[in-house]
Amino acid sequence: MIKANYFTKIILQRRFPFNFGIRGTLLSLLHQNTFCATACSEMDLKSVIRKLKQFADPGLAESWDNVGLLVEPTPPHEVKKVMLTNDLTEMVFQEAKAWKANLIISYHPPIFVPMKKLEQRNWKDRIITGCIENRIAIYSPHTSYDALAGGVNDWLMEAFDTKSTSPVTPSVASTGPQNKRMQITVPRSVQDNLYKVVNGIQNTLVTMQELNQDLSQINILCSNGTIPTILQSTQGFGDKIQSTELLDLQKAPKPGYGMGRIGKLTSPISVSEAVERVKRHLGLAHVRLATGVGCENISSVAVCAGSGSGVLKNLDVSLYVTGEMGHHDVLHAVHSGTSVILCDHSNTERGFLKVLKEKLTEIYQSKIEFQVSTFDQDPLVIV
Ligand SMILES: [Zn+2]
Repeated sequence: MIKANYFTKIILQRRFPFNFGIRGTLLSLLHQNTFCATACSEMDLKSVIRKLKQFADPGLAESWDNVGLLVEPTPPHEVKKVMLTNDLTEMVFQEAKAWKANLIISYHPPIFVPMKKLEQRNWKDRIITGCIENRIAIYSPHTSYDALAGGVNDWLMEAFDTKSTSPVTPSVASTGPQNKRMQITVPRSVQDNLYKVVNGIQNTLVTMQELNQDLSQINILCSNGTIPTILQSTQGFGDKIQSTELLDLQKAPKPGYGMGRIGKLTSPISVSEAVERVKRHLGLAHVRLATGVGCENISSVAVCAGSGSGVLKNLDVSLYVTGEMGHHDVLHAVHSGTSVILCDHSNTERGFLKVLKEKLTEIYQSKIEFQVSTFDQDPLVIV
């Protein structure tokens, strides 16, 4: 997880032959439509992105993040080879180019803060222009994969045998545009007429419920903007209306989805065993350990891929596992009795790419070749 305040995306303009005049433009549009009707195969970038979004809804990502399709080559763009990487560095770009990748899925978004110009003296700019010139699309899922059930954080937690785990900060399901519920109680004798009237109003979802032998309730899911129309349309029912209630719909937690994971172990383990398990799971020779005051055994764990300081705070567990944490956050954890294992930021994320490769190969029924970058690595090593 990385943070910033704003974001940007580059969507390349479609080519239109303006120099051919209106006739040429129309012919071009016709050609594009014809082409799409016949040749927008399931391997076309648009179809591929649609499936990626079905796999992990970009809406799961944090509000500050910049996820989704960040570089889109001029369509049509057939996708046969996809390179998976945690970070899109120049080495990884060269690797993807040599392998003739059509799409790079980069977990961290290579475009994050606004880019006002693309210059060859900046390494990030060189990657973006290189991708554009070589017709390589870039898609970034970032925190949507963190929040995903079966995503990066669940993978990280697999270092341990746990009884059950849950997100530290659960994702919430969007209520969509209909964020109000109006409940109108009327005698059953007029229920059908009222139902018919409000059901005809656009952008509402209407249900009817019989409360007892005399009364019924009409429930209307609606937006703020539709409320005056509903009230106006029900005026004709006058004093037959027993009551009208307006409720705010709260966003509901989405079970299994969210940031970080917390869980109890099937049986307590020593701190050194916890360290060994993390090393083995992440394929690391070294990690950093801060032993919690009075913490002899580990019975519960909370993990957060990347930078854990924001998520792993004041939790009643014996161990935190994350990529990086500030000195004062580690100090606070240790003196609150919680041990901390730090593995360096991307080491807590990168291993998920192998799991992702398997999942995507299955989703695309082996029609697309996925390859995990061999040049992608954490910039820090313990020497
Ligand atoms: Zn990260």
